[in-house]
Amino acid sequence: MDGSRNSLWFTKLEVNRRFRKEKKVNRYTAKKLSDQAFPSVKYKENKHIKVRVTKSPYDGDLVYWSQRNSGLYDNATSKALKKQNHCCGHCGHKLLGNEYLHLHHIDGNHDNWKPKNLMAVHQSCHQQIHSSQKDT
Ligand SMILES: [Zn+2]
Ligand SMILES: [Zn+2]
Repeated sequence: MDGSRNSLWFTKLEVNRRFRKEKKVNRYTAKKLSDQAFPSVKYKENKHIKVRVTKSPYDGDLVYWSQRNSGLYDNATSKALKKQNHCCGHCGHKLLGNEYLHLHHIDGNHDNWKPKNLMAVHQSCHQQIHSSQKDT
């Protein structure tokens, strides 16, 4: 996020400089003009983007595991898959490449990315896990 903020700040500087050059205005007026062009409200918006987007009502990180050749494969998901022999941790069936794969956080803590807390499951199985948890 700092990147976009910095580039905004940089653009602002650029505009500031241009205002001063072209319109022959003084430092104060140039700043005022560039502030109008870039209202400070932007910071608030940036903060919103920072918050992790929840893709589903569940805690799974949804990936196509057909993306296994990309960088994604070398992450927590791939480790969980390897550990489970590419089988769903819930129903035990194979996780196929064209299916959605969810990562279930066993202890319910979405910040706990330790391999033993992660379980790769089918999307539908993941929904089952959570609906049965609600019942108990
Ligand atoms: Zn399953
Ligand atoms: Zn889950």
